[in-house]
Amino acid sequence: MPEGTDRTPISQQSASQPIQPDTQSDIQPDIQSEAAVDAGRLESLVAQLNPPVARILEAALAGKDISVADAVILFETTGLEFSALGMVADELRRRTVGDLATYVVNRNINFTNVCIKRCGFCAFSRDFREEEGYFLPVNEIIRRAKEAWDYGATEVCIQAGLPPQMEGDLYIKLCAAIKEELPEIHVHGFSPEEVLYGSIRSRCTIREYLRGLQDAGVGSLPGTSAEVLDQPLRDHISPGRISVDQWVEVITTAHELDIPTTSTVMFGHVETNEHLARHIALLRDIQQATGGFTEFVPLSFVNTEAPMFLKGLVEDVRSGPTGMDVIKVHAIARIMLNNWIPNIQASWVKEGSRLSQLLLTAGVNDLGGTLINESISTSAGAQHGQLMRPAEFRQMIRQAGRIPAERYTTYGLKRVFDQDDGQVDPLDLVGDNVEEIFGSYRKLVQLDTFRFEHPRQSTRPGVETRS
Ligand code: SF4
Repeated sequence: MPEGTDRTPISQQSASQPIQPDTQSDIQPDIQSEAAVDAGRLESLVAQLNPPVARILEAALAGKDISVADAVILFETTGLEFSALGMVADELRRRTVGDLATYVVNRNINFTNVCIKRCGFCAFSRDFREEEGYFLPVNEIIRRAKEAWDYGATEVCIQAGLPPQMEGDLYIKLCAAIKEELPEIHVHGFSPEEVLYGSIRSRCTIREYLRGLQDAGVGSLPGTSAEVLDQPLRDHISPGRISVDQWVEVITTAHELDIPTTSTVMFGHVETNEHLARHIALLRDIQQATGGFTEFVPLSFVNTEAPMFLKGLVEDVRSGPTGMDVIKVHAIARIMLNNWIPNIQASWVKEGSRLSQLLLTAGVNDLGGTLINESISTSAGAQHGQLMRPAEFRQMIRQAGRIPAERYTTYGLKRVFDQDDGQVDPLDLVGDNVEEIFGSYRKLVQLDTFRFEHPRQSTRPGVETRS
């Protein structure tokens, strides 16, 4: 089964994608004329809004990029203007990527929670002295990847803490080991923070480290560790975190090497609307220069267990975004990025399935992955579980009046479900005993089997090799 590597927006892909009726170009003429009527009615509605909002939304509908100042105005909308914002985002989504809504079958492997950093929003990490630190050896990581493959996954997402005294090329070796066992699986792994750490531990440049990952078979990088790309804000909530300049360097270097990445934002803590608008504009600038982003994923701040909220480490931190904030961020992202990044993803682990479904009507065209072992948000107090079954994605999408499609990591289509054919995937057959089958973060931190041992004290294979 070939791995999808086409970064062409879905709406522009040819029939060369495997097993995919070209549903976007097969739209019946009467449906097309219906869409044109709807677009006309929307334009009439927009013309009746408050003049500043009307001007901005008209520009967006005319295909123009909107400015940071314009985006800030949109963030302040309420009432009819707020409703129109979502409708315009939805219309732009329809024009750019059509009515398909996608998901990917994948598994998260967060192979260690031990980390030398102390980001204020992170409830996942543990100090190496803490009892709950774990570290999965390579054979366990490969076992998990193989199991995911057998359940139909096309991707493993590898991200973790930054363990002390890490062997510099650990990430490269890990990637190579997975690809050796499963040459066809897409390794989506290693955030900019991890790439930076690997390069520092290896005493090489970011470019050299990325080349090593590429040679080992990495398919794409998660554009996480971005939070909000504003240095004073980062210094406030996560001192010592990868800097804005370093994040941009890792991402643009990856793109130069033809390694695609996602892009993200974390919102609902201490940031302002202007921070968010500037962040999205920076991503747009990068995309204009490199074209390497596959998608943009807004991530709500999960406060419950986050140290900066729980322990009051940061003053005036909010308890996450409101429902309207969530809709605005996704809709404004669609409006700001529509000409450049075609895919806007809703994160079910942050927003839950009900709000994610609603976001399909506000600019979103992708619902992310099955994950199987979601740990990061769960440890922070999210209540949405560790797995989303493919059939659940398809149901959410179909109920929203859209066409479900399973995609590969880089948005090549694997299967389009233009008929409700009662498809059942291996992951759909997993019952409620998900933890028993796949393990969980809660179990991992309790198990002695994978307990982290500091390299200077370790006697276990796979751990003592780290220098
Ligand atoms: S966000 Fe990443 S770098 Fe920061 S403490 Fe958590 S695991 Fe470590």
